Amino acid sequence: MAAGGKRAGNASSTLLGDAIRAFWRVRRVVCIDKVLVIGNIFNSGRTSAMATIARRDFLKAAGLAGAAFAGSTMLAGCAPKSAETVQAATAASSGLPEMWDEEVEVLVVGSGYAGLAAAYEAAKAGSGVRIIDKRASGGGNSAFADGQIAVVGSAAQKAAGIEDSVEAFVSDSLTAGLNLNYESKVRLIAEKSNETFEWTVNEIGVEWAQDAETGSDRLIAQGGHTVMRCIPPQANSGSGITEPLTAKLAEQGIQVETDTQLARLFKDDAGRVVGVQIALGCRDYDLSTAKETKTVKTSRGVVLATGGFGLDVAFRSAQDPRLDETVGCTNREGSNADGLRVALDAGAFGMQLDQIQCYPYTSPVENSFGSSATWIEAECAYAPVIDPATGKRFVNELTDRKRFSDAIFELGHPALQIGCIDNAPEWARESLEAGLGNGAVVEFDTLDAIASEYDIPLEALKAQIDSYNACVEAGIDTEFGKLFNDDSAPMKNAPYYVAKMQPKVHHCMGGVKTDDNCRVIGNDLQPISGLYAAGEATGGVHGACRLGCNGTLDCLVNGRIAGQQVALSDPLA
Ligand SMILES: Cc1cc2nc3c(=O)[nH]c(=O)nc-3n(C[C@H](O)[C@H](O)[C@H](O)COP(=O)(O)OP(=O)(O)OC[C@H]3O[C@@H](n4cnc5c(N)ncnc54)[C@H](O)[C@@H]3O)c2cc1C
Repeated sequence: MAAGGKRAGNASSTLLGDAIRAFWRVRRVVCIDKVLVIGNIFNSGRTSAMATIARRDFLKAAGLAGAAFAGSTMLAGCAPKSAETVQAATAASSGLPEMWDEEVEVLVVGSGYAGLAAAYEAAKAGSGVRIIDKRASGGGNSAFADGQIAVVGSAAQKAAGIEDSVEAFVSDSLTAGLNLNYESKVRLIAEKSNETFEWTVNEIGVEWAQDAETGSDRLIAQGGHTVMRCIPPQANSGSGITEPLTAKLAEQGIQVETDTQLARLFKDDAGRVVGVQIALGCRDYDLSTAKETKTVKTSRGVVLATGGFGLDVAFRSAQDPRLDETVGCTNREGSNADGLRVALDAGAFGMQLDQIQCYPYTSPVENSFGSSATWIEAECAYAPVIDPATGKRFVNELTDRKRFSDAIFELGHPALQIGCIDNAPEWARESLEAGLGNGAVVEFDTLDAIASEYDIPLEALKAQIDSYNACVEAGIDTEFGKLFNDDSAPMKNAPYYVAKMQPKVHHCMGGVKTDDNCRVIGNDLQPISGLYAAGEATGGVHGACRLGCNGTLDCLVNGRIAGQQVALSDPLA
């Protein structure tokens, strides 16, 4: 597989000196126009003076003196403003700044999959691009996710003789989403899945896990997908996608500006988004604590890629009262609704905000996503999950997340997965070891010991394991209709691996409404000019339930579209 993403190398002090000198040369030229264009200025071809600076010097400057560069973006004569100014500006009901502090063609807000893909495509199309993120480090939830992606018609599927189709993907996604998804959006990501996957490989340099036996990308089963179409990254983490994307942007002189939070969107009299207010150095994402604020004119547009709000207990429980503080969450700290609120304040139409997914594969023993969830989810393809009160299965373990989580909530207590050595997928072993290490997964030698530990009726448990094994041997799940993997084996040998399962808030299917070109739709149901959005910040792709692996796909496909479209929009004068 081609995997050509280059990484930024370490700078020697001489190189750093060159870079800083080059940076100041660039800055001098930029200040002549009193307009600051950050990133990709050599592709834009719009400022002839800039073209006289060697691209190599500029890239060194941007890459190696990034912090200095990011901190020097004010127009001459504009002093930094204080936190009080944020309050004043955000409280104002109308009116544009008399003078912008800075200007850029495209501002991308958020540096997860969607934001990085948008920034990459907008820069590739020739726009000057900045990308900001409120956190101290970039990557969003994406960098901490598993990074698995659903692909229809992949080379791996063809090599394995698996028949798949856009229709099958759409049907699976609509079934899980209870038909609340917009079919055109589902179809779009399905149709673009293989070309997007190939783009990650050939253009970005992402490395996907390989199957030693077939020599192709590794295919894994995922709940709700009726065929094997999901592929994990080699790194077993979304960082295997965000890092190569970030490195690609760095090659173009674009660095993620961290600790920089979107505070407000400015619209002109025609309703077009023409700029933003950003707040730097906020404590706990509280705008009133900003060390400095700036206004930035966005001459082509803003891309919102601010992710979900799973950890925002007040916001999420206002949408779904069941999801109060007693329900855990898999998201990274800071996953709150502040970006979404800015968009709603600017008149974006919020849709399906109460469609909040709980992830059934998490352990009550661990915080957040934990280390064992990857194992538990993978093992669901092989192992029975029982209600400890009865010793019986109660759900198809490969159903979608909504049905699975709802079924566990219905029990009123955690469910119990009983896996065993006969069915331990090698690729998830690291997660199994981590779970065994922290007690989220417990090893047993006999079913008797399991029944005794968890107070399960022993005879019912034994009868359940016997009937499950009979289903596996027959290749048909007569109990719940689970589709067994080809390598599924009956559970015959210890050790058994037992894990409690308790759903946690995982994904926000709702967000701002967009059209198929990622233009944000306003409360008048018309596109808001100058405003685009992609990824978990948007609604409409997943309906009532996102299928596993459809999130990565959604973010990359729509992030790219948002970047391409904003770069095509008419620039402001
Ligand atoms: C633990 C975990 C595992 C997962 N595994 C998978 C998987 O294997 N496959 C799959 O398909 N999906 C998976 N998902 C879901 C998927 O990874 C996410 O939906 C996806 O990462 C969202 O990407 P995004 O770019 O929309 O947002 P994010 O990656 O969350 O990025 C949003 C960024 O915006 C920034 N931001 C927010 N508000 C502001 C603001 N006001 N100003 C400036 N910046 C702001 C945030 O700091 C953040 O960095 C997983 C999710 C989690 C939590």
